[in-house]
Amino acid sequence: MKIICVGRNYAAHAQELANAVPDKPLIFLKPETAILEDNRDFLHPNFSNDIHWECELIYRVAKDGSHVSQSEAWDYIDGIGLGIDFTARDLQDEIKKKGHPWTLAKMFDHSAPISQFLDPKMFADHKNLHFELRVNDAIRQSGFSGNMIFPLDVLIAYISQFITLKKGDLIFTGTPEGVGKVNVGDRLQASLEGKELLDFYVK
Ligand code: MG
Repeated sequence: MKIICVGRNYAAHAQELANAVPDKPLIFLKPETAILEDNRDFLHPNFSNDIHWECELIYRVAKDGSHVSQSEAWDYIDGIGLGIDFTARDLQDEIKKKGHPWTLAKMFDHSAPISQFLDPKMFADHKNLHFELRVNDAIRQSGFSGNMIFPLDVLIAYISQFITLKKGDLIFTGTPEGVGKVNVGDRLQASLEGKELLDFYVK
């Protein structure tokens, strides 16, 4: 399986990092070894002094598909959850200056903690979901999926022109504003429409 991630999909987050708002989706991948499940501790790696949280709505792919149309896109999703796109911002800043790929800044082991998945049908309005990240009990990110620059149906149609979606793949849909640095000892908790889905520590 693969994890397909979208960068800069909320205008206020692109602006907080002084990035331009993209005119096409910005796509990168994480490998399966990035996944961290069951609210296990995230062990802070020693190659970075500036790992940032990025809380994101994530979607699980229900079936294989290539060249999927926007109108069929939601048929390819069978789960909604929350994930953290951990990013070594210091490495990423160096890499960005050189114009090199983001690989080591974004795709390291356990850089993608994920929650359980919920049935999209349980939400009355699954196209505008509220999600929130608290760090040590303080709300640090609060987003609405309706504010995505490229909504999920557009992303699926776009991505599947280039990359075949496989059952079980995950899509990370970008983070709202409020990213920040994690420290050893921090507790990260995230909720989707008031339902607590993530609760783990940085060790
Ligand atoms: Mg992200």
